Amino acid sequence: MPSTPEFQHTVGKTANFSGTALHTGEKVTLKLQPAPVDHGIKFKRKDLQDEPTIEARIEDRKTVERATMIGEGSVRVHTVEHVLAALWAMGVDNAIVEMDANEPPIGDGSAQGYVDLIRKTGVTAQEEHRRFFDVRDTKYVESKTGGLLVLLPDNKFRISCTQAGPNNQFSQFFSMEVTPQLFEREIASARTFVYYEDVKPLMDKNLIKGGSLENAIVVRGEAVLSKEPLRFPDEFVRHKILDIIGDLALVGRRIRGHVVAVKPGHAANAELARAITREQTRRSALATPRTIPSGDGGLDTDQVMEILPHRFPFLMVDRIISFETETKCVGVKTVTINEPFFQGHFPGHPVMPGVMQIEAMAQVASILLFKLAKTTSRIGYFMSADEVKFRKPVLPGDTMFIHAELTKSRGERLAKAKCHCVVNDAIVSEAELMFTFLDR
Ligand SMILES: [Zn+2]
Repeated sequence: MPSTPEFQHTVGKTANFSGTALHTGEKVTLKLQPAPVDHGIKFKRKDLQDEPTIEARIEDRKTVERATMIGEGSVRVHTVEHVLAALWAMGVDNAIVEMDANEPPIGDGSAQGYVDLIRKTGVTAQEEHRRFFDVRDTKYVESKTGGLLVLLPDNKFRISCTQAGPNNQFSQFFSMEVTPQLFEREIASARTFVYYEDVKPLMDKNLIKGGSLENAIVVRGEAVLSKEPLRFPDEFVRHKILDIIGDLALVGRRIRGHVVAVKPGHAANAELARAITREQTRRSALATPRTIPSGDGGLDTDQVMEILPHRFPFLMVDRIISFETETKCVGVKTVTINEPFFQGHFPGHPVMPGVMQIEAMAQVASILLFKLAKTTSRIGYFMSADEVKFRKPVLPGDTMFIHAELTKSRGERLAKAKCHCVVNDAIVSEAELMFTFLDR
């Protein structure tokens, strides 16, 4: 298995895993396929028209009880945590998880089926470095149900977890460094456990058609019901660790830090993943160069105007200072008191309107789109702006760094970009934008 932890990895070849979907009880086949560097893990719904893909990232996580679901628009993938845990812990950074249903096979309720699948495909090193998140200071999140997760600095990825049932029954503790070898030996085969009182209403409503004692341990009072005996005396806490690994995989970066978890659950795990992602965004913003490079690697004003149709007073980007990748760049806009909007917004109290910042983001994102499409014969129209936040006012004299990253482009006509603006090392605004393209 992976011998070069600094580098990204994908699966060596394609292989299948079939079984039952937990919620619908239907048969599902999951096909694990290799993917290029920086692709991340994406789920592909083979059963839907256009076979849409959904990225395994925290931004696309939907709130749902007792499991982790990701989705975009009306496309959903349920119960992704076990397959994600296996991929991530076994060292797979990039893969396509193709499925002919909205849910992976539940297997025996553990991640063993996925580890076996990854054993079949193998894991291959790729030529790009992994992205890490190094924990620098302590973070913690708490859930309403009494879960607590603390993240501490560490040079390895470690999880220490305690779990306790009602009346502190089944109190268990387990601590480990997350490596492929230890995951396979200590965690992968630990099964899902549920409390009878929690699942009874779901069974009555026929919401877990595929659920049975073959893929979950059911705890009823003092009794532990399952098809086979417990695989470890502390199987429950081990499964909790499995779920933490799967949920934190949505960060998309390798965490170097120690997670200390007390009665964790999917909601708290997701909260921690969000906190890490927010911190990462903040750090990326701080890494912005303070001096503005010119020449190679960016676009000067003339080149920007060759691409964008916008003109005074509506050109909201002066220059592109760098392209990090084909889908990620930083533009710059020097905001002066001569901007026409300051006359009216507001007299005696000039503040750059938030919508103009969104326009600036849209223009920088459009440059990426036009460069990718290699044509300017079409024009991008704004369809929506989500997750819009204005954090600080932008004033005359500010230099605004506009970061844009294309996160999705569905076919030729639709694209999505994640953007934020930075002034003086602080994020002043952010938004997720969606575009459609029409011929001019
Ligand atoms: Zn689980």
